[in-house]
Amino acid sequence: MSDAIVPGSFDPPTNGHLDIIERASALFESVTVAVVINSSKQPMFTLEERVAMLQEVCAHLPNVTIGSFTGLLVEYARLRQAAVIVKGLRAVSDFEYELQMALMNRRQSPDIETVFMMTGSEYSYLSSSIVKEIARLGGSVEGLVPDSVGQHLREKARL
Ligand code: ADP
Repeated sequence: MSDAIVPGSFDPPTNGHLDIIERASALFESVTVAVVINSSKQPMFTLEERVAMLQEVCAHLPNVTIGSFTGLLVEYARLRQAAVIVKGLRAVSDFEYELQMALMNRRQSPDIETVFMMTGSEYSYLSSSIVKEIARLGGSVEGLVPDSVGQHLREKARL
């Protein structure tokens, strides 16, 4: 078994993300959830907040650690000695972008494999952006994000 890396913005982590992380944690020896530091995007949550939320919601998974990276994902994967990148796939619309990323990552680093997991059907419509939109409009995010994340979302939406 190899070590895997699950990258994303996680702004904020949703139940769809958690589903992928839990399934990866059952398949791989160890999993690093890697929060992308992307200066061109204006996130709702700071890097520290996203890392803290992930630590909280992954506390029941002993082989999962949370990290963050800037620059090339394959470089970070190598640093963490991860041979596999795990990504979740929702709709066909995810496919084109993910194919491009996977092929580019393989070109950069042929020894690192990208593995795709299909979303749980109940999460196929779920994204961090739609969850933020609902929270901003005062809607309920129950069942879409872990309870602790829902609490943080409500606090942010009130600001
Ligand atoms: P988002 O697209 O929601 O902003 P991220 O950039 O944080 O999410 O995505 C990180 C990874 O998690 C990507 O591989 C993405 O396809 C996956 N992912 C996001 N939401 C879901 C979901 N509901 N089900 C399965 N995978 C998901």
